[in-house]
This record gives sequence, C-alpha cells and structure tokens, in this order.
Amino acid sequence: MKVLVVGGAGYIGSVVSSRLLAAGHEVVVLDDLSSGHHDAVAPGAEFVRASVQDDRAVSTALNDGVGVVMHFAARSLVGESVLHPELYWSTNVQGTRALLDAMRRAGTRRLVFSSTAATYGEPGSLPIEEDAVPRPTSPYGRSKLAVDLMIEDDSLAHGLSAVSLRYFNVAGAIEGAGERHDPETHLIPNVLRVAAGEVEALAVFGDDYSTPDGTCIRDYIHVDDLATAHLLALEATGPDGAVGAGRHRVYNLGNGNGFSVREVLDTARRVTGHPIPTMQADRRPGDPAILVASSQRIRAELGWEPRRPGLEEMVTDAWRFVQNRGRERHSRGPAVEKEI
Ligand code: UDP
Repeated sequence: MKVLVVGGAGYIGSVVSSRLLAAGHEVVVLDDLSSGHHDAVAPGAEFVRASVQDDRAVSTALNDGVGVVMHFAARSLVGESVLHPELYWSTNVQGTRALLDAMRRAGTRRLVFSSTAATYGEPGSLPIEEDAVPRPTSPYGRSKLAVDLMIEDDSLAHGLSAVSLRYFNVAGAIEGAGERHDPETHLIPNVLRVAAGEVEALAVFGDDYSTPDGTCIRDYIHVDDLATAHLLALEATGPDGAVGAGRHRVYNLGNGNGFSVREVLDTARRVTGHPIPTMQADRRPGDPAILVASSQRIRAELGWEPRRPGLEEMVTDAWRFVQNRGRERHSRGPAVEKEI
C-alpha cells in the first residue's frame, strides 16, 4: 500500500513512517518543515517539501497511486494556541479542509487522522471515553475537534473510511527517531534538557491543582505503541476492515495510567542519575488538571495492546535519543527530496 504521510518530518509522523516502511508499505512524506526536520524523514521514504495547503503538490502526490493518507501536520501547542488562535484555525482546520478536498478529487478514500485528548478538555469523569462530551479548554483542542467533526461529515457524505486517533501524552523514541521541537514545550523533553545540562531547572507549571501532589496528571503512551495503533487503523480502513466506507471512528490512545509532573521528574532522576532541579511557575493557560484515557474501544475493536506501558521505559528511550541525537542524525543522512 502506498501511504501519504502528511507531516512525516515531525516526531510522531517520522516514527510511524519508519514502522510503515518496516511493514512493507511505500511511504511518501509531505511536509513543509515548518516544525519538522528534513533529517527526521524516514530513510526509504520519498519526500515532498510542500504545505498541506499546496493543492498542486498534494494532488500530484495523491494521484501517484496513494491509497491511504495519514495526516499529522498540525500546530500542537496549547499555550501558543491561546495566544495565537488564528494560526490554529488556519493550519489545523483550513489545512485539513484543503487535504480533504484534494482527496475527494483524487478519489482517495482512506484517512487516519492525528487527533488529541485536548478535544475533551476538563473531563466530567475518568478515565475519558470517546463518547464523553467534548469541552476543549484551548483553541488547539477546539481546532482539532472541529477537524474531527469535519472528517465525520466528509465520511458520511463522500464515502470516506476514516479513523481519528485521540492521542494522550506521547513519549519515548525508537532507534533514530524521537522528539525534537524548537521551541520545546513538552514535559519529558524539557526534563531531559535539564538532565543533559542544556537548561538549569525545570519550570513546574502549577502545584495547586486538585491532584494528590498538586501537579497535573497525564496519561503517557510510548510512541512505538502509538505507531502500532496507526498500522491497525490503516488496516481498519481497508476493504475488509472494521471501519467501512462512509464511516468515521474515533479511538483514544493512552495507557489508562496517570502520572503527575512530580512522578515524571522522579522517574527521570532515576533514569538519568541527574538531580534535575525545579522551579515553581504559574499554571499554563489551557491545561486541564487530569487527563487519563480509556482505550477500551481500540483494544476491543482493533485488537490494540500497549507493549511498552511503563513510564521508566519511555523516559529511558527518550533519554537514549537525546544522548545519541547528533550521531544518529549524521548516520541517517537526509532523505532525497522529490520535485513536484
Ligand atoms: N509541564 C511543566 N513544565 C514544562 C512542560 C510541561 O510543568 O516545562 C507540565 C504541563 O503544564 C502539563 C504537563 O507537564 O501539566 C504535560 O505537559 P505537555 O506539554 O508535555 O503535554 P500536554 O498535556 O500539554 O499535551
């Protein structure tokens, strides 16, 4: 199967691309490198440097035998979205609208979309199930919810088979592919920057939440387990799959275990042997206190099982990636860019 991975130069898109290639699929990565990295494109993938809103590039790629689209390209920072919502409505919503239009014209009817736990906001009950009432607390979450609804409408009207995977907090790395944002805002990479000596202390955003230690609780999932879910979702949108034509199915992806910011810090101290000093900072706007997933639906319907649910393994793999970063980047070399 030829898969168009939109946003395949980012953290999750690059890991999923590697897993698709290992499973024998052909991969075309389309990415404008606005936040991704050229050297993160999986070796063996074709690379088209273009925006998802570049209709000519997207249509040319789709018309070259693509059977399935995986769509990762998005802005994904809660704090930034509060300050600049326009960027989120433009990139996330208009970008996906353009992609869906190009898919309809090209006759590409299978889609796997990167959605997020941020669509739920402050949950009414825990763990969060897919049919919980969505009450997103940030423009980021609202923009992703809008996309999920848009995909639902397109699926019904135009016969798409579509899956939205609602990620909780993704962590860890696989060989050669891991998390590398600039600026970095996520907890585990920021903790590891302190351990690597790049930053003096971790700013803990809020210690007065109504949680046992006062810091926010999140459900961390290994990026390799997340990639497995993408392969299952790809199969589900196929001719004999669980998500047939005209259907859109939403699946949560988490481990069902929550860890507080302080628990993440303690794990990272054990893994790295570094004391990782902290400083107390204000709450970050848009952050819910607790997000923990129920992933029963994807377990029951697609047979997904997390193989690496331990926080220690995620932090260990992320730490290995941080330590090997420069070396691996050189040994991989850049993917060859295709002109469109
Ligand atoms: N966090 C923190 N310091 C940081 C980065 C994050 O205290 O430098 C907190 C953040 O407020 C949230 C949790 O860690 O409670 C997870 O944040 P992250 O940005 O990793 O993921 P999110 O839950 O926003 O998707």
